[in-house]
This record gives sequence, C-alpha cells and structure tokens, in this order.
Amino acid sequence: MKLIENYSLKNLNTFGIEARTKYFAEIFSEEELVELLSDDKCRRERKIVLGGGSNILFTKNFNGLVIKNSISAINILKENEDSVLIEIGAGVIWNDLVNFCVERNFGGIENLTLIPGTVGAAPIQNIGAYGKELADTFYSLNGFYFENCEKKTFSKSDCKFSYRSSIFKDNLKDKFIITSIKLKLNKKYKLNTSYKTLNEYLEKAGIKKPSIRNISDAVAEIRRSKLPDPSKLGNAGSFFKNPEVNYETLEKMKSEYPDIKSFPSESGKAKLSAGWLIEICGWKGKRVGDVGTSPDHALVICNFGNAAGSEILEFAMRVKEEVANKFGITLQEEVNIL
Ligand SMILES: Cc1cc2nc3c(=O)[nH]c(=O)nc-3n(C[C@H](O)[C@H](O)[C@H](O)COP(=O)(O)OP(=O)(O)OC[C@H]3O[C@@H](n4cnc5c(N)ncnc54)[C@H](O)[C@@H]3O)c2cc1C
Repeated sequence: MKLIENYSLKNLNTFGIEARTKYFAEIFSEEELVELLSDDKCRRERKIVLGGGSNILFTKNFNGLVIKNSISAINILKENEDSVLIEIGAGVIWNDLVNFCVERNFGGIENLTLIPGTVGAAPIQNIGAYGKELADTFYSLNGFYFENCEKKTFSKSDCKFSYRSSIFKDNLKDKFIITSIKLKLNKKYKLNTSYKTLNEYLEKAGIKKPSIRNISDAVAEIRRSKLPDPSKLGNAGSFFKNPEVNYETLEKMKSEYPDIKSFPSESGKAKLSAGWLIEICGWKGKRVGDVGTSPDHALVICNFGNAAGSEILEFAMRVKEEVANKFGITLQEEVNIL
C-alpha cells in the first residue's frame, strides 16, 4: 500500500477537472484497506472513496485522503436452475459485470448496460436506467466504517434504496467504504422493455422476442447515440435528478405546458423530465466559457475545455435558479459535489 502526497485527480474524474488531494492511495484488497485505515497518518484525515470518478465534481483541492477502490473479482457463490448469487469486488468496472452476466444469460442488469463507473459506487445512488435499478437485483454488501475500521454487512433493506439514493448518499455519506456487493440474478427472467425509447428501438429493429443480449445491445446503442462520451467530452451524465411532483401539480403544469414530459415514479408520484425543464428555460446547448449543456441532452453539463470545477458548479446553479424561477421547482443535484 503506497501513500502518495499532493496527487492530481485530473485523470480520475470524468469531468476532467484538475484538483489535487493531500493524500492518495489505491487499494486492491480488504487487507490493504485495513492497513491504510489503521495508519497513524491516515486516521486523522478526512476521507473519500473514488471509483471511476463518473459522478463526482471537484470544485477545489481535497484536503484529506482519497482512496481509489480497485478491489476486483467476480465470484459465483450459489447457483440453481432459477437463480445465481454473485459476489463482486467494488473495483470491478460496472459494465464488465454487465457483460459477464449477459454472456451467461443471467438476467437482471442488462438494462443497466454502459453505465460508467465501478460496482462499489453502484449502491451509492442505486444506479438506474431504462426501467431498472440496482435495487431490483441487489442482495447485500460488505464494507468498513472509516471511523473505527469495523466491518459491516448491509442487507437490501439496510441500504434504504430510493430513486438515485441510498443510506450511503445520506446518513453514511463519506463515512463508509463498500468493498464488495452481492447480486441475485435470474436464470428464468422476465425482461423489462417497458421504457418507451427501448420499446420503440426494439419495435423498429423488428425484435419481437428479445434476448438478454438484444436488450443489452439496444441499450448500448441508444446510450451511445444520446450521451456524450466522457473520454471525448468531460461530463458526469445527468447533473440533476428528475424531480418528483404529485399528480395535482402535474395537472396544473399540464394546463400551461401540454407537452411537459413526465412518467410515473416508483413512489406513486409523477417524475418530471429535468432535461425538459432545462430545455424549456432555453439552456439546451447553452455555453458560458468552457462550460455548457450538451446540445443533445440538456441535463448533461459538459466541460468543453479547461473549465474549473467551480465554474461548472456556478453554471449548474444558474440553471437551477432559472428552473426554480420558471416552474417553482428546485432541482436536486445527482452529482456528488466536493
Ligand atoms: C456519460 C454518463 C452516463 C451516466 N449514466 C447514468 C445512468 O444512466 N444511471 C445512473 O444511475 N448513473 C449514471 N451515471 C453516473 C455514474 O456513472 C454512476 O453514478 C456510477 O455509479 C458512478 O460510479 P463511479 O465508480 O464512477 O463513482 P465515483 O464518481 O467515483 O463516486 C461517486 C460517489 O460514490 C462514492 N463511492 C464510490 N465508490 C465507493 C465505494 N466503494 N464505497 C463508498 N463510496 C463510494 C464516492 O465517494 C462518490 O461520492 C452516468 C455518468 C456518466 C459520465
């Protein structure tokens, strides 16, 4: 385990922001993590975990220890004719896990194809896309409290999953490091093609009885056509969550904006498309210096050059203010801001 001082995080966040951390360490096992957390120098420091850096915005240098979690391994723990229980190291790339499952016909995460980042970060905001979320297949996770290095297992209900959130984005934010997760996948699966864009894609392609592979390929192609590739244009996907409103509010808004984009949420409310709200405020494709929204997707804020994290945040706050002024709705950040 090597502790590096004054380390640049520019290549470790998908916004491509130059920020430095006082200390940096990469861990490849739980043993290395325990050694790191027990180290006298590290014990006193504020800590954060970094996976793929695809949901984080550094607005300044970090005065503490950044732990890059690279614990990898995928193990099948139990298998019968109906299902399979897999344990995955937190440092495994999420899409590598999706491919592992798609290749073996293990159903449950194919709709989550091509979400950037690591497995360990997936529970943090209960990643979701195209009608599915992590919680649908989640079984449990292991990790350690920073404070006392105590190991703890969290069951699905302990994680308090909700739309783009969990206990780890709330009470336990930056207090706990996930080292592995377990998922229960189905061998006798029911595919979810309810999401409009996915359904339309399959219909257009003439695929009537899709396989897991068909769903995964379709999601990959839709995503590639819609979202900017962070290796070419710095971004962290959706900057804000889609706000939820009750149906009474939705009806009132519809009388003024009949084209408003909404869909039912898991909590029985209506979810409004944050991208649509931003677009109506005139911010789709708008740029201020090196910061701007994607011309294809108003919800994605991009670094078009050498923007500082603080400039991206300033831009996001202006977008947020305009949406609040026009619609009376306060957008909530999905990206973790530091
Ligand atoms: C182009 C693009 C598209 C995206 N599309 C989607 C999408 O469709 N759906 C979706 O849900 N998200 C999406 N995202 C957001 C992002 O991919 C996910 O949130 C992903 O889970 C982040 O993984 P990461 O490893 O990069 O996390 P990081 O950005 O490294 O970290 C994110 C947060 O999790 C914490 N963290 C990371 N690893 C651990 C760990 N092991 N233990 C404890 N805390 C940890 C970090 O401290 C930070 O607070 C997208 C991002 C991009 C760039």
